[in-house]
Amino acid sequence: MPVLSAAHEAFRARVRDILGEIVTPNADIWEEQRRIPTTAWKALGDRGLLNLPHKGPEFLESAIFCEEVGRTGYSGIRSAICVPYMALWYLQQYGSPEQRRDYLEPAQRGEKVAALAISEPNAGSNLARLATQALLDADTQKYRLTGTKTTVTNGMVADFAVAVVSTSPTVSGLAGASVMIADLDDDNAVRRTIEEPLGYRATGLATLHFDGLAVPAGNLLGPRGRALPQLMRGLDFERLIVGILALGSATYTVDLLGAHIRTHMIGDTPLSGYQSVRHCFAELNGQLALVRQYAYWAARQHSLGCLDTFTAATLKIKATELEFEAAVACLHYYGARGYEQNSIPARLYRDAVSAPFTGGTNELLKDLAFEAGGA
Ligand SMILES: Cc1cc2nc3c(=O)[nH]c(=O)nc-3n(C[C@H](O)[C@H](O)[C@H](O)COP(=O)(O)OP(=O)(O)OC[C@H]3O[C@@H](n4cnc5c(N)ncnc54)[C@H](O)[C@@H]3O)c2cc1C
Repeated sequence: MPVLSAAHEAFRARVRDILGEIVTPNADIWEEQRRIPTTAWKALGDRGLLNLPHKGPEFLESAIFCEEVGRTGYSGIRSAICVPYMALWYLQQYGSPEQRRDYLEPAQRGEKVAALAISEPNAGSNLARLATQALLDADTQKYRLTGTKTTVTNGMVADFAVAVVSTSPTVSGLAGASVMIADLDDDNAVRRTIEEPLGYRATGLATLHFDGLAVPAGNLLGPRGRALPQLMRGLDFERLIVGILALGSATYTVDLLGAHIRTHMIGDTPLSGYQSVRHCFAELNGQLALVRQYAYWAARQHSLGCLDTFTAATLKIKATELEFEAAVACLHYYGARGYEQNSIPARLYRDAVSAPFTGGTNELLKDLAFEAGGA
């Protein structure tokens, strides 16, 4: 049974039009500026694209949106736009009415930008080593947040971060951690740009240093000390989204490659006249078809409330591996033209190379898939 209806495809066409109007014409400038400007958030918010559901039957529209953002061919932009959507999942799931009013709704209108601050210099794949700490001052009813979060998407522009921090004076790491909202426009939250990232250039990547930042007790998302079970669900959702975004990027790359091999001539023969080139393309295109089917099946499972770790991890692994493989093939068949820094194949390659280790390294996800697969 097809997962997507004609109405979904009409929605896809609308999303493409809006992205073609707001994002694509400005994408190179945003890459140069290393961030998305405030006006773009507002424009996307005004068109309803930052207010897409995180669950239920309408989630399929969110999946389409993510695929289309990926299909712009700019992973920095896909990440800048969709990591806030992942951060807002925590507000949708655990947010109080006040938190929804003060953070979720302004972010959905494009008036505030959210970051997701989980990784630390010594805690990327291994979150057990989380060291950032927020201890509650009983008198002021405020947490004092101290520590460093790194490689934070939109770190340079975000108004607030959904942060995972230890809130226990006795239990270290993730076991004693909570999820909380940290306002970033404060002298005790210092942003340092990550200079010259290899790819993902429009993401406003930053390291965030917290030096006793005051976080009201009311900014805790969900119960204190429950970050671990919250993350187990949140990270499955994140991997689903990363997989769909990677599917979009892989689609862009395979389309570009397909057009190139049909038009680029070696003497009198187009590249597609060579069997080895045709086979390479057919392999990629076939894998793309399989990953797309799996991605929308996974999206449907999520919309029914049945997403599991095996599915989320497997999709993320397969989609990001395909994105990388397609980018390498594209660079290869563009020859020297693709080797110029400012060429499209070079950008696709720079971006794709990190996809297998962001949003959960694929090695870690293979371990999770192995365990979840019941072996
Ligand atoms: C462009 C970009 C955007 C990002 N955005 C965010 C963000 O918004 N918020 C956030 O919190 N973080 C973000 N990150 C950080 C990202 O989540 C981490 O890079 C990731 O979790 C891996 O952590 P690490 O870089 O510390 O690598 P490490 O954990 O040090 O791992 C290094 C390498 O070791 C290998 N490895 C790890 N575990 C295993 C294993 N079990 N078996 C075998 N090999 C293994 C992997 O190949 C991995 O790449 C971003 C990173 C990038 C590059």
